[in-house]
Amino acid sequence: MREKKDTRSRFLRVKCNDCGNEQVIFGCSSSSVRCLVCNKVLAEPTGGKASVKAELLDEVDKDI
Ligand SMILES: [Zn+2]
Repeated sequence: MREKKDTRSRFLRVKCNDCGNEQVIFGCSSSSVRCLVCNKVLAEPTGGKASVKAELLDEVDKDI
């Protein structure tokens, strides 16, 4: 029963195409996000919303 939508706190679970590492990244990151294992770029900033370069597994809404 969750009606609240806040796109500012959107997280994405992605899988690195190179090494298969799964990682949760911030969907609106203002800087490049790299894989913690192989350092591949997983997402790049595109003026507010990140462009995901890896396989998108899930979207996670969190309040942090
Ligand atoms: Zn990787």
